[in-house]
Amino acid sequence: MSQSTAPHSRDLQGPPSLGRRAFFAALALTATLTPAFAQPPDAAGFAKYIADQWPVAQAKGITRPTFDAATKGLHYDPKIAAHTERQAEFSLSISAYLAGAVIPSRIEAGRALYAKERDTLARARETYGVDAGAIMGAWGVETEFGAFFGGENVLSALATLGYIHYQGDLGRDELIAAMKIVQAGDEPPSGMRGSWAGAMGQPQFMPTSYLEYAVDFDGDGRRDIWKSNADSLGSIAHFLYRHDWTPDLPWAVEVTLPAGYNYEPGDFTGAAKFAEFAAKGVRAADASALPRQGAARLYMPAGAQGPILLVTHNFDVIKTYNNSNAYVLAVGLLGDAVVGRGKLRTPWPKSERALSREEVKSVQSLLKSHGLEIGEIDGRAGPKLEQAVRAFQFEQGLTPDGYAGRALLARLKSAS
Ligand code: CA
Repeated sequence: MSQSTAPHSRDLQGPPSLGRRAFFAALALTATLTPAFAQPPDAAGFAKYIADQWPVAQAKGITRPTFDAATKGLHYDPKIAAHTERQAEFSLSISAYLAGAVIPSRIEAGRALYAKERDTLARARETYGVDAGAIMGAWGVETEFGAFFGGENVLSALATLGYIHYQGDLGRDELIAAMKIVQAGDEPPSGMRGSWAGAMGQPQFMPTSYLEYAVDFDGDGRRDIWKSNADSLGSIAHFLYRHDWTPDLPWAVEVTLPAGYNYEPGDFTGAAKFAEFAAKGVRAADASALPRQGAARLYMPAGAQGPILLVTHNFDVIKTYNNSNAYVLAVGLLGDAVVGRGKLRTPWPKSERALSREEVKSVQSLLKSHGLEIGEIDGRAGPKLEQAVRAFQFEQGLTPDGYAGRALLARLKSAS
């Protein structure tokens, strides 16, 4: 379904299979801007572009009064266009990202709101089966619990992105989806505030995601993800529910492995049961019992020297909100801290530094010359790279943590 990576995580390496929710933000990570026009953008060209969208909008059921109301006063915004040309040169390590995303002041703000919104969260849990921690985590990471959701007029931003053909017709399609929101009477154009990429309100939904997932959770007849906390929390819960959230399944459990643990490929597929891990001597890091139900897979975000997690299907559900492992960790850990579930016991390795894009390319090339399937050599980390690294590690008798760090790069060089 979806494609996304929110503005705050766009400097991270991550596979782009994102949710449409915050699709554009993700594109800053993956896209090279290729304007589909020869003329530099200008006011006249923009006005013509907008006028040309009428038949398209009409075909999608937009009425003329809505079209006029939604496009009145729209302008080409060079600042929005400039955002699309920013490219991250360096990648943050996951631990560096988390150090900025899961901070005491944010946890504290979250705890106060968790207390305040307890009834709404209980109702979301009843209605959608989604845990308060995941909802609070997503709310906090996306917009500081609704405090900062971007001051851009989303219609202008999307019109600008559509005009410069940023990622083809996506800006245009989202603009028309935004018109549908106006037409439904949910929110007037002036109230549709969000990020430069068009992600709106407290949950940072793209307009198409809004149409699909936003709910009126306070019962006033409008889906207001800007000013209503209840609508925002209900909408986040509904989004996760619709992406197949499993009730009563933790998103992750930090674990310790017994000395001499016998790694098997099946540990990393997500099919092995918690009970099977327990039988192999895997224990929760806080000495609590592992869940009795459900399956999981081992995930070592910073390699075997850092925290080791068993992650579940719900980890992947959070990932549909924003397709980045670092994002999921931030949401999960912030949510856990807010609802009082504690934090990681194992420190992140001090020496961890994310490989540069060029270094990742080297890893990819070396793995490829080793006969491993790595897809495009693009300098981006992702599931494919992790799998190839793990295959190499299994073959070499190394700890198969799937982590592409400096040690692995050195090993690859010496092995080839
Ligand atoms: Ca409402």
